[in-house]
Amino acid sequence: MINFDYIRTSTAKAAVEAKAKSASSQFIAGGTNLVDLMKKGVTSPEKLIDINSLPLKQITADAKGVLIGALALNSEVAENAIIKTKYPLLAQAINAGASAQLRNMATVGGNMMQRTRCSYFYDITMPCNKREPGSGCGALQGQNRMHAVFGTSEKCIAVHPSDMCVALAALDATVHITGAKGDRKILFTDFHRLPGDTPELDNNLSTGPGGQKGELITGIHIPANSFTKFHYLKIRDRSSYAFALVSVAVALEISGNTITNAKLAMGGVAHKPWRLSAVEKFVTGKTATKETFAAAANMAMEGAAGFGQNNFKIKMGKAAVAEALLQASQKI
Ligand SMILES: Cc1cc2nc3c(=O)[nH]c(=O)nc-3n(C[C@H](O)[C@H](O)[C@H](O)COP(=O)(O)OP(=O)(O)OC[C@H]3O[C@@H](n4cnc5c(N)ncnc54)[C@H](O)[C@@H]3O)c2cc1C
Repeated sequence: MINFDYIRTSTAKAAVEAKAKSASSQFIAGGTNLVDLMKKGVTSPEKLIDINSLPLKQITADAKGVLIGALALNSEVAENAIIKTKYPLLAQAINAGASAQLRNMATVGGNMMQRTRCSYFYDITMPCNKREPGSGCGALQGQNRMHAVFGTSEKCIAVHPSDMCVALAALDATVHITGAKGDRKILFTDFHRLPGDTPELDNNLSTGPGGQKGELITGIHIPANSFTKFHYLKIRDRSSYAFALVSVAVALEISGNTITNAKLAMGGVAHKPWRLSAVEKFVTGKTATKETFAAAANMAMEGAAGFGQNNFKIKMGKAAVAEALLQASQKI
């Protein structure tokens, strides 16, 4: 790890100003991803701007929904009474991620901004267009068991590793952002990017339409909803402390045995949480049966393409979507 400056800020304005002044500075929250990346030489910020003293830890609800501050810890969000009763899908997804110790350090903003777990990205002796644009993609012809089956490009087939973000994408959340020129909001589903020709850009913070240098996530808003049935299914190599091979977030409203509203998103399959809008439309108005769920699962994986070692994700994805729908529909 190379030397770096460290400053602590106590207002969002000061944090944004400090970041705008130095191109290679980075905010640090829990540090559970950033410090690893610094130790491995994947990133070498000249300055760390500690944002932990900013007043962004609140979780407040009203009739319109809940606002979660960007510095709320993953463990605090998952254990919060409002989240557990009104947005249990989010609590379930967070608790499926990392370990208790990590969730006690990791923040909402940091979780959204965490980098891919592609081994070529972490190994600075290997080519990786995300880490070093133009160097190539080692995973295309290499170890790609964990990689994407949707939305890939010839430059990058990495996935976004978060569990929390899959639930937030399904629940129509909005990201609240502040920058030098003021505040803005982005739909959660528009926050993360597909790799295209610029895999070095994970998301639209600072770089997307309306983006400004040095932007800071201040919070996440989840609109109120009347879903009564939820399930977050995560399939992984170990039953804890492992990133998703495939995950599925489902929220349903069911009247009698008819699905009247549905939200679905997948994780572990793309460079961003993968919302299943066509599947949502397909299941709405249908009876909640295994046949409906099997047809929905086939539809969910239409267009998926593997790269050899990760071909199994297509079959696994179908099974996961059908199972997550079944589990959600059976919640009492
Ligand atoms: C062993 C291990 C296993 C894990 N397993 C899982 C898992 O199964 N599922 C899962 O979802 N996650 C998993 N994680 C990832 C973990 O959830 C993230 O490391 C964590 O959420 C990052 O949050 P942080 O606050 O520590 O971020 P930091 O490391 O402090 O920051 C990460 C990035 O976010 C930026 N940042 C932080 N806050 C803001 C903000 N408010 N605005 C703008 N930028 C910001 C920082 O500049 C930095 O670039 C695992 C991590 C480890 C180490």
